This record gives sequence, structure tokens and C-alpha cells, in this order.
Amino acid sequence: MEEKTPAQQMREKLLAQKKNGWDVVDEATERAIFEYAEGYKEFLDAGKTERTCVDNIVELAKEAGFVPFERGMDLQPGMKVYRVNRGKAINLAVVGSAPLDQGVTLCAAHIDNPRLDLKPVPLYEDGELAYLKTHYYGGLRKYQWVTIPLELRGVAALKDGSVVKVAVGAGENDPLFTISDLLPHLAAAQNQKKLGEAVPAETLNLLVGSRPLKDDEGSDRVKLAVMKLLNERYGITEADFLSAELEAVPAFDAVDIGFDRTLIGAYGHDDRVCAYAALRGLLDLPSTPVRTAVCVLADKEEIGSVGVSGMQSRFFDTFMEDLCASQNVPLRVCFEKSFCLSTDVSIAYDPNFPEVFEKNNSARINYGVGICKYTGRAGKSGASDAGAETVAYIRRLLDGRNVLWQMCELGKTDVGGGGTVALYMADRNIDTIDAGVPVLSMHAPFETVGKLDCYMMYAACRAVYEG
Ligand code: MN
Ligand code: MN
Repeated sequence: MEEKTPAQQMREKLLAQKKNGWDVVDEATERAIFEYAEGYKEFLDAGKTERTCVDNIVELAKEAGFVPFERGMDLQPGMKVYRVNRGKAINLAVVGSAPLDQGVTLCAAHIDNPRLDLKPVPLYEDGELAYLKTHYYGGLRKYQWVTIPLELRGVAALKDGSVVKVAVGAGENDPLFTISDLLPHLAAAQNQKKLGEAVPAETLNLLVGSRPLKDDEGSDRVKLAVMKLLNERYGITEADFLSAELEAVPAFDAVDIGFDRTLIGAYGHDDRVCAYAALRGLLDLPSTPVRTAVCVLADKEEIGSVGVSGMQSRFFDTFMEDLCASQNVPLRVCFEKSFCLSTDVSIAYDPNFPEVFEKNNSARINYGVGICKYTGRAGKSGASDAGAETVAYIRRLLDGRNVLWQMCELGKTDVGGGGTVALYMADRNIDTIDAGVPVLSMHAPFETVGKLDCYMMYAACRAVYEG
């Protein structure tokens, strides 16, 4: 071994080191990374909407010994409980050995994704073709959602109180749906439009049928024939669309990307990649943690964490208060001692578009969990700016467990930005910091992440829960 020069030694001591994760991990970790990715891909395919995702999570939680949390339950250390919020969000907890006045450790992700919701009056016929009108949900780029296969998932709540689950495209040999776009031959005028205006929202109409009802002289025969099929399969009528939540989501399953299979392409990495890490981390806890570990999987983040199933909802406080009541601990005392990792994806540096990134402060694929001290826009507007002490805590925690991580911002300061659930946790007097997997093509129907980063996210959540 050659001796290091004084300059080399000084460089190692004084300058921050950044290394590609694949140059750092050992063979056992490599194996764990690829194994973890298989479980994550299954999780993605099983839950393409918040409701199906919750259904799958409940199954996984039950297998791991979790039980529904009833108010007033006698909670002992080691007990595993969960509570579902209206089928669209879920909180899970493993009761720790320390009392709740010592606070809890939280990992909070969201399980809603950009998609195309059906309008309340969606079904119509035009040009002897049947369509469902959609209303896009979340910050999506409309031009990306045409000419791809889509499937339909959700529920119709009937007046008699029953709820019908709708899933077309989920089964083998199921039909799929699509939205048409102009052909290049006739797109001269459309090509002149701005990208954001080229595909107007009112053209995002899902093609769902083309065969008219036979032996009928009336109008809208294709529409009627489609409604007949829906009625036969689900027992619903056109009026039942009024009380339905139906979502058109990409029909493709999660796949490996790259000759080396180090990446995953799928719909919904934002934010199922962190939701799975937060969940798996909790399910895999080998023993009773010291502080109670809580996994929060919220809905409605993509539209501002609003509404009864979003992170701003008192559902979370009620869950926590019910936990605290079992030990006669005031909720505020628990919150002020708690720590939250707001686990939401970060933006991966994309060499195809270097102009929107500030290189020194961008997350890179394969460099581990992206930690954001703050998110927001412009002058940190709308950010939860984690304190320096909180950043130091997470540095210490992750380095102590050999979790690979990197510090990042969301692109160039004046170019754009974004937000997460972090500010709503911080509002509750909980020390909170953002951390997530870097994603390419975020909010597209098909997003890409690195398997190494996915695994490091899981390791980070484990570290938080285990303290
Ligand atoms: Mn997100
Ligand atoms: Mn998002």
C-alpha cells in the first residue's frame, strides 16, 4: 500500500466524499437490494390506487401480526395495531417499551398518485363511440397520458349502502382502455401549441366501446350497450356514477429497466417507493422498539394533503390521541418529543435535462436516500425547513447504520419546486425532515427509480423506527 500524501490525507479529512452506491455496498447488501426490489414490484402491481394499496397493506399487516386498533384497547409493548381511514389511508403502529410521553418515531408517506379520475357524469357517446370523461388528479403532464393502455379501478357506492368494487384491466384477459391522440399527418396546428396546452383536459376521454345495441332505433345505442355490460358485471346504472370514485391508471406492471437490471420502471413510484419502505421497515422490526414506531400512509398528497383522508385531517391526531389515551399521556406531550421522517420521493438528476438542475445540490440515482432540509418554491415558500439540529440527527442516525444518503434540493432555485406532507407534521410540533428515493420522470405514467436507492430508503426507515 502506498502511503497517502499529506494533501490526500487533508482532502479525505476536510472535503465531503460522494460515492456511487454500487462502489460502496458489499455482496450481501447487493443481494438484499435485488431481493427487496422483487417485493416492491409486487407491492406496486397489487396497489395501483390508494384503495387497492390499502387493501394490500392490510393483508400484509395481518400476516405480520397486526390487529385493528379499537379505541380503549389495552396496549402492551410489542403490540402491533393499524387503523384504516375510509379505505384510502392507513396508520400502523408497533407499541414501544418506552412510554408515549417519550414521543414516537414516524415515517410518513403518501399512497395517492397522479391519475385520471372519472367525472361524476362520465359516460357519453360521440361518433358512434362510447367514452368516459375524466378529470385529471394531481400535477400531471396531460400529453403523457394519451395513447397508452389504461385500466379502471375504484368503487361505486350505491344508495342501499353497499359498495361495489370495480376493477377492469386487473384480471387476466381483461380489456383495457385508451385515450386517442392526433396523428402526425393532421397535427400541424397542434404541433404549434405550447406543450402544456397541446392536450386540453376535455380531450382526455377514455374510449370504452364501439358496438351499438342491436334491434334498437333510439339514440346513443353504443352508450346504452356499454351501460348494459356494466350493469351485468357490477349491477350499477348510469346514476350510480354520481357516487362512484373510479380512476383510470396505467395498465402496465412494474418491470426491471436496464441491461444490468438496476432500475425499476413503473406507475406510482411517487410515493409508493417510500410507502413500501416505511411499511416494510415497520413489518420487519425484529423486536419491540424503544419508542413506539408509527407508519403513516396518507391520501391526497398530490392535491395538497387536503380532505378527510389527507395528512391535514384530524384522523391522524385522533389515532395518536387514542394511542396516548391508553397511557394517559397528553397528545401534545407525545408530539413534542416525536421525530418524523417525511418519506417522499426526491427529484433525480436527469442528464437529458441538465439545465433545470443545480449540480451540487441534486440527488443522483444510486447515491442513496435524498435528504431535503427544505422543499418549497422560490424563496423556500411553502417549505418545512428542518432545523440544523434535526439534520445533524439524521446524519448521525443514517451514518451509524451505514445507510447511503445524499443531500438534495428540488432543482434550480428559480425553476420550480414542490412540497410533501412534511409541513403538516411540523405544524403539529413534531421535528420533521424530508427524505426520499430519487425519481426520473416523476408524475409520468411510467416513472423510474434505482433499486439501490429503494433499499436504502427501507434501511433509513428501519433506522428511524429503531432509533
Ligand atoms: Mn410525492
Ligand atoms: Mn408527487
